[in-house]
Amino acid sequence: MKTPRLIRIASFIFFGSITGFLQAAAIYPIDQATILAGSKFDIKIEFNTVINLGDAEIELNGAPINKIISAQPEFISNENGKGSSILYREVQLTKAGKYQIVARAPQERLQVNWDVYATGPRRVKNVILFIGDGMTIANRTTARVLSKGIQEGKYQGRLAFDDMPSTAMIGTSGSDSLITDSANSMSAYTTGHKTAVNAMGVYVSRASDNLSHPKVETIAELIKRNTKMAVGIVSDAELEDATPGAMVSHTRRRADKQYIADQLLSSGAEVILGGGSAYFYPQSTKGSRRKDEKNLVENFKLKGYQLAFTKQELLSASESRGTKTLFGVFHPDNMDGSLDRLYLKKNTVEQFPNQPDLTEMTQSAIDVLSRNPNGFFLMVEAALIDKFNHPLDWERAAFDTIMLSNAVQIAKDFAKTHPDTLIIVTPDHTHSGSISGVVHDDKPGPLREKVGIYAEAGYPNYPKADIQGYPNKIDVSKRIAFFYGSYPDHYETLHPKMDGTFVPAVKDDSGKYVANPKYLQLQEDAIHVGGNLPSHQESGVHTADDAVLNAMGPGSENFKGFMDNTEVFKIMVQSLGLGSK
Ligand SMILES: [Zn+2]
Repeated sequence: MKTPRLIRIASFIFFGSITGFLQAAAIYPIDQATILAGSKFDIKIEFNTVINLGDAEIELNGAPINKIISAQPEFISNENGKGSSILYREVQLTKAGKYQIVARAPQERLQVNWDVYATGPRRVKNVILFIGDGMTIANRTTARVLSKGIQEGKYQGRLAFDDMPSTAMIGTSGSDSLITDSANSMSAYTTGHKTAVNAMGVYVSRASDNLSHPKVETIAELIKRNTKMAVGIVSDAELEDATPGAMVSHTRRRADKQYIADQLLSSGAEVILGGGSAYFYPQSTKGSRRKDEKNLVENFKLKGYQLAFTKQELLSASESRGTKTLFGVFHPDNMDGSLDRLYLKKNTVEQFPNQPDLTEMTQSAIDVLSRNPNGFFLMVEAALIDKFNHPLDWERAAFDTIMLSNAVQIAKDFAKTHPDTLIIVTPDHTHSGSISGVVHDDKPGPLREKVGIYAEAGYPNYPKADIQGYPNKIDVSKRIAFFYGSYPDHYETLHPKMDGTFVPAVKDDSGKYVANPKYLQLQEDAIHVGGNLPSHQESGVHTADDAVLNAMGPGSENFKGFMDNTEVFKIMVQSLGLGSK
């Protein structure tokens, strides 16, 4: 029936005035959530008013909710002074279909719709998920130019993920914002649910404690609860960072790194390799960042894990046929990227000379995990692509994109003899940045006149890549002119940063970020570029641009066109049959 126009306007004004002074009431999971049948999740209903539990009516598909779910409600009579909340922990909906939840209180009515989906039987033995953190299209292109070369318009080779049969464009926005971070974007891949910036494995409710928000199950937890498969987590960032953290954690704040380290220990993942050792040692140990005396390294050892702290220890532990569980940390913080480790020896390479490459961690993880006859799920993150895109250091980002390609090649080689393996390579979000020309040192005039565009760009003169796929010289006389689209104040040098990662901006006395004067001192013709981001922002930022996903193996044919990031989870659990009875 058509509502008379006048009444519709009146009700709009009425609700508008209510939301003007009250935070919106809510139900979690949120409207339009897609939920794997049989997966565990918490339901939370937040009313705007204080009520008695007996006054609330909660219906699921028209029936009282307690007829369908067995969880007993937890009642918070007035949560943070904002109204009454009702929580149902660890709910499971095993039947696929459309669900509608309606919550009524004397003065309120809330409603959301969910889509619960089942999966067919398991189709693949192994899944390997590569995350190129923050990898944008131009990172791929620069990596291809540097690694494969290009002659008269034709690339002389392909990156390992270029020729995979399936490609999709992925939307990465979160529940709260067009722009995502690595916590909520990875959480969408690992849980199939959207969440907010800085959150993982939870919906962000009005709870004040980071760990009390309504939880959703991660793929690692699903696998451990339902199968005998092995799980591996590999990252060249701190292992407590957002991407590896979202495999196993449920927190509002990705900064809860001690909690995330604890979750890694209790996750039961068979292989855990990366940086971030500072959170695995008790606070009394020099360099520890823990706030307690727990020694997680000792605990991994007690659980029977082989331990590795250097590249050599990693390789010998993984080669040993008896190794079924392996924990390796190789740096107190984020590990060093390939440009520094292999060529320039800058950043922290002299201090930590025995860090493995992402390829070695990937090979070791596959070697150990594939000893499990029930198959494995391995997540490998090339984290530093993002860590170098932020400070506008495109050469370092390109080298780590080449490293990701090398790591993907190892997985492809494994899949040759194990064709029942689904391989996915995807960014979690993108960055700005594009190739706009070629810098020619021999062009006359001030620095900006040296940027060749269109026909004057021609081609760069990087040397042919070495056996590892990298050019051994980047400060050549004809270089890619790469410009990021979002930035703080900085000096554009149009030169690679040979002395360590670019630090574009530093704080001035008023607390605002201004161009780092170091680069003007190093290069007197550097161009001052006024920032286009708020002055409290020290680096470039993530973008909402689509992320390009590549995939191969059984199930990969489901990746196509434009997809939401939660659908990546859906395809993985469908391939693994995690929603079949
Ligand atoms: Zn980032």
